[in-house]
Amino acid sequence: MIIDLDDIKERGLSLELIEAFDHFPALNELHADGEAVFIQPLDIRVMARKFEGMVIVEGSVATAVRLQCCRCLQEFEQSLDATFSVTYARHLPDAEAGADDGEVELQAEDLGMLAFEGDQIDLTESVQEQVVMAMPFKPLCREDCLGLCSQCGADLNAGKCGCRDQEMGGKFAALKDFKVKKTD
Ligand SMILES: [Zn+2]
Ligand SMILES: [Zn+2]
Repeated sequence: MIIDLDDIKERGLSLELIEAFDHFPALNELHADGEAVFIQPLDIRVMARKFEGMVIVEGSVATAVRLQCCRCLQEFEQSLDATFSVTYARHLPDAEAGADDGEVELQAEDLGMLAFEGDQIDLTESVQEQVVMAMPFKPLCREDCLGLCSQCGADLNAGKCGCRDQEMGGKFAALKDFKVKKTD
């Protein structure tokens, strides 16, 4: 995911790329851990423009993953889409004021920019960050997934297991005992 600055002409540079997930270290790690199994390559579209010594990259990334539902533990497939806009700056406004590298990096982040060196911009980090952020924090196979029975572990999406009635009965029974004791 490298852009040569020379390729960005006055009208900008438009790119459409299909990239394998394993070109992105963070995504490769998720895949290897089984946290998100990539079932489609990344469809990446970007438009890069130069502006006052900076490079503005706007784009989108789309892919699909297999995730595990956090309620019922079944695997399901989900498409991921994200749009992004990133500004890359060669020299930040205060970079020459004698600040050390750590401070310069902090400033770049504060301004929502990324720093670049040389004549190329590597989009790898920006793209993989978008994909990671597009992933659900708590994956659900469907909004109203019923999950597993806390008693017997049955998948309640497949039907009732019969534990629920017993559980209610148990609670009421305990309440009744409590009342009896109190009035004694
Ligand atoms: Zn589920
Ligand atoms: Zn049950």
